[in-house]
Amino acid sequence: MYDYDLLVVGSANADLVIGVERRPDAGETVLGSDLSVHPGGKGANQAVAAARLGARTALLARVGDDAYGRLLLDSQRAAGVDTVGVLVGGAPTGIALITVDPSGDNSIVVSPGANGRLRPEDVRAAGSLFHASRVVSTQLEIPLETVVELVRCLAPDSRFVLNPSPPRPLPGEILAACDPLIVNEHEAKVILGDSCVSDDPADWARLLLAKGPRSVVVTLGAEGALVAATDGVERVPSVKVDAVDTTGAGDAFTAALAWRLGLGEPLPVAAAYAARVGAAAVTRAGAQESYPTPEEVAAL
Ligand code: ADP
Repeated sequence: MYDYDLLVVGSANADLVIGVERRPDAGETVLGSDLSVHPGGKGANQAVAAARLGARTALLARVGDDAYGRLLLDSQRAAGVDTVGVLVGGAPTGIALITVDPSGDNSIVVSPGANGRLRPEDVRAAGSLFHASRVVSTQLEIPLETVVELVRCLAPDSRFVLNPSPPRPLPGEILAACDPLIVNEHEAKVILGDSCVSDDPADWARLLLAKGPRSVVVTLGAEGALVAATDGVERVPSVKVDAVDTTGAGDAFTAALAWRLGLGEPLPVAAAYAARVGAAAVTRAGAQESYPTPEEVAAL
């Protein structure tokens, strides 16, 4: 019997957003809109998305002992996430400084802050959370050696889900644990590197699978997704919606997929549900603010 359907290990950032007429060049100052502050970071986003769907969710992360850290803890608790694993202090809360111009193009500077101080020993100290969780999900906005330690700490019958974002080449030990590895187009190309010899996402899925994961999911935005396991590649259709803002759609998709896999659904079925959650998330602005309840997913 597990206490949690999903343990998310990952980043928590405050997103500081300013709208500008034109993004500044080197040495230039431009005036912008009022500042808006949003809870973000791929780990925090995934945990909120899962909890809003009804998953019993815990987050293992690190924030600073500061106002942004408290903002992040509040948003997790408001969504129903268990924050017992959120460590406080050691560095300022991670920040993303985002300027957005009227065409929607943005420039982003990320200060990883406390996310970079989530260390392998923090993972080792959270052993009871790992043993209490059916599925563990992570991303790459925390140190790679922390992800390696996490893979070593997995309970024997738990399931590991990785979205390698921001992407970088991965050691075989991490790849072999993924069930599934979840990538968008850009992440697929970086992970494949020189072995990306095709323009066909179905080939990427097969090539990625050959690198060792037990299963692979390639997300294709409005085109839906592909799932791949030893029995072949299958397309998961997208749901037609009027997209307003795709920020955080991949995090919502991954969280939903991880949760449903833990409930025992086969990969294509869980991915079809996750595609509905991703579609719902793009119909509203923002990341965490856009994540749907089960009723909203059912109403799509
Ligand atoms: P990321 O945000 O990581 O780039 P994607 O853009 O591929 O990820 O989105 C993740 C999933 O969300 C997609 O596989 C799809 O199911 C859903 N999704 C994203 N954008 C849309 C859209 N415009 N219409 C419908 N579904 C979408």
